[in-house]
Amino acid sequence: MNAPVKVCKSCGTHFVDKYCNHCGQKAFEENDRHILALFGEMFHFITHFEGTFWTSLKRCY
Ligand SMILES: [Zn+2]
Repeated sequence: MNAPVKVCKSCGTHFVDKYCNHCGQKAFEENDRHILALFGEMFHFITHFEGTFWTSLKRCY
């Protein structure tokens, strides 16, 4: 079984591990993209919620 060869986004080195053995850059995996998207959604939700929260609070006074 061959491990998939990845190309480092920083230096272009081909490697098979989770981290580039040349510069130490972590391999960007499909899983990371999902986590980043999830955090983005959460951030958007929180900022949107706070925005409406403060606007509705201002309307009360
Ligand atoms: Zn690298």
